[in-house]
Amino acid sequence: MALVEEADPPYSTTARDTTAVSVLDTTTEVPWGDSRLCFGSVEVTHQVVSFLRRKLITGEVLGESRLDLPPRTLRTRGVWWTVTEDQLDAARIAPEQLPGALHAAEHASIGMLPLFATCDRWDIGGVSVPLHPDTLLPTVFVYDGHHGGAGFAERAFHTARRWLTATREAIAACECETGCPSCVQSPKCGNGNDPLDKYAAVRLLSALLAGAPAE
Ligand SMILES: [Zn+2]
Ligand SMILES: [Zn+2]
Repeated sequence: MALVEEADPPYSTTARDTTAVSVLDTTTEVPWGDSRLCFGSVEVTHQVVSFLRRKLITGEVLGESRLDLPPRTLRTRGVWWTVTEDQLDAARIAPEQLPGALHAAEHASIGMLPLFATCDRWDIGGVSVPLHPDTLLPTVFVYDGHHGGAGFAERAFHTARRWLTATREAIAACECETGCPSCVQSPKCGNGNDPLDKYAAVRLLSALLAGAPAE
């Protein structure tokens, strides 16, 4: 139940949330060199933890209010890929750059998926983790935002080489300095688009794609 009251405050609000993904079942796994590209069933646990109040015109953050809301879970289908420490070393991605590289690659790949699957970026979600408890490796997940899955992640899995190549090219070709809404920023990010490292993301995707089999 939502209680709504009309008001005209001088600020807007944005929710901050945490999302965790666990692998329930790996349906298919394909080696891409040392990387793995996987498709399967995942459980997504989503919790809104706070909201930010922002000034209407400038977007300046006025404050953050904590919320105590229950987590919600979604059982769905996802596509995910991993990289190894050796690949990160070869791609010159330092440990402190890794979260921003994974997060930027995740955002850009979600932004690119509507060109390959008939979906909107709001139909899919993503999570990137420097050390995932199920894969024990740095991992990026993209999942269907509907219970039971909707076929978008599966389509992503089957066109992964083209999808992720287009993702890398979109980031590399973007003329912004440190990331913008056309490349690595996402309007639906629960972390306020932080951290993001677009240059490390390009190197990360190049390392991943180097092992991709020809389609
Ligand atoms: Zn950009
Ligand atoms: Zn994000």
